[in-house]
Amino acid sequence: MQWKVGKVSLTKVVELETVGSTRFILPLADRQEILKLPWLVPHFATDEGRLKMSIHSLVVETPNRRIVVDTGLGNDKQGRGIPAWNNRNGPFLETLTAAGFPPDSINTVLCTHLHVDHVGWNTRLDGGKWVATFPNARYLFGKAEYEYWRDHSDQPAQAAVFEDSIKPIVDASMCDLIASDARLTDEITMLSAPGHSPGHMCVHIVSDGEEAVLTGDVAHHPCQMAHLDWSSAVDSDPVQSAATRRQLFSRFADRPTLVIGGHFDAGHLRRDGDAFRYVAVA
Ligand SMILES: [Zn+2]
Repeated sequence: MQWKVGKVSLTKVVELETVGSTRFILPLADRQEILKLPWLVPHFATDEGRLKMSIHSLVVETPNRRIVVDTGLGNDKQGRGIPAWNNRNGPFLETLTAAGFPPDSINTVLCTHLHVDHVGWNTRLDGGKWVATFPNARYLFGKAEYEYWRDHSDQPAQAAVFEDSIKPIVDASMCDLIASDARLTDEITMLSAPGHSPGHMCVHIVSDGEEAVLTGDVAHHPCQMAHLDWSSAVDSDPVQSAATRRQLFSRFADRPTLVIGGHFDAGHLRRDGDAFRYVAVA
């Protein structure tokens, strides 16, 4: 799947797609409630009210940068809490290469935040060691986000993610820590969007009068556009996360802005009463 935003092109590369079994992340999104939002069907939910989600990367090509935004789960990672995320052996790098983006052609890796399903392919296992998957890239992590997880990865699952997917990049001096509102290129500016994690950032793209926003995990699913208070079970600050959703969606609603989530497909935001709904883009 590919979209154009002025001179910038966006390509989605999928690692994993799921239907249903999402209550662990969105406990309030039960089927009865989802069926009250018919605009979710068929793109974002089944007609039984099961949510469709994915874990994917977005390749952002500007005139002089080739950027991978978020890097999924990765292969061979141990100690993950969810069985399907543990010790994977998936074809993500082959998929990425077949889409025209061999890993050595990537010059920038950008993580919206440092959760397990956004940093996995930062590294790959090579001879028993974790090495950078993208050997020619600078890796950009939010400074606030990085410092939080450096100091607070106390749980075994968090410690595993930090040790195998973040620390090796920092130790190899391949990482730049950026401000949450940093300007990366003429076209790309980060937007500070805390709540899901302490230093979470969105990616704002403007080129030739066209606009897109990559929302990361500000919302895990478009149902949270109708229910801004449906914070996810892993939001570090659920109240802040709801406030960030309202602020971000208000800014981009009823505009031609292309919106793409960290776990859902492209669409446009529309105001709907006191909240929002989402219209899929083909
Ligand atoms: Zn997350």
